[in-house]
Amino acid sequence: MKKKIIVGNWKMNPETSARAREIFSTISRRAKKFKQLEVVICPPAVYLGLFKKSSAKTGKNFSLGVQDIFWERSGPYTGEISPAMALSLGASFTIVGHSERRARGETDLVVSKKALAAARAGLRAIVCVGERERDAGGAYFEFLKNQIKSSLAGARPRDLRRVLIAYEPLWAIGKSFKEAMKPADVYEMSLFIKKVLTDLFGKDAALAAPILYGGSVNFENAGLIVKEGEVEGLLVGRESLDPENFTKLLRTINGL
Ligand code: PEP
Repeated sequence: MKKKIIVGNWKMNPETSARAREIFSTISRRAKKFKQLEVVICPPAVYLGLFKKSSAKTGKNFSLGVQDIFWERSGPYTGEISPAMALSLGASFTIVGHSERRARGETDLVVSKKALAAARAGLRAIVCVGERERDAGGAYFEFLKNQIKSSLAGARPRDLRRVLIAYEPLWAIGKSFKEAMKPADVYEMSLFIKKVLTDLFGKDAALAAPILYGGSVNFENAGLIVKEGEVEGLLVGRESLDPENFTKLLRTINGL
């Protein structure tokens, strides 16, 4: 059985490097025990260097990631980070196309350039997709299909070995934990996404790309979402900054 992938996205938190160290050391120490999981922490990139050494010692089931990446190798791109830079600081994953970046103007085309540059440089690209709202007529299926297609424009089937899809319906992000998507609906969407990937890239490529769910996951709802939603992992925001609750979440998924 494949390991479940649990990604913690710290976003622009915490405010100090001292607090970042505290959270990181607790989570990384505990994550070692959960052998059925691959735990990925994506701190703000400025903190990566603090964690490189200890994460290298933590073992195979723990990795670092960045929250965004640029597609060029180097040059006059103020504020950007290249895949090689992220790799050199110990990251092996990157999130691309998070809805909070899309809300500030990031297009599908930009997301596809980032995803491909990351994957081809050796990072695993977590490509975020998800509809803003649901309509009774089911137009969100078409929206999602088009968003996946254009966020992976130019990808070849073999690129999918380094791609993960994080399905994050916008209406479920940052809400109360009771408002996370229902496991049966997560299941429907994960099947739909696999079908879209199969149509675009073929069955083998589609099977290689894990589907994660994100949106108001906590330690209480995570188990059912993964089990009944049949997703291959989770993208976790707020709960990944609370070492106690995040550990409970990891323990639950590890025990499934
Ligand atoms: C997110 O923003 O990707 C996310 C899943 O956040 P939260 O878990 O806080 O809803």
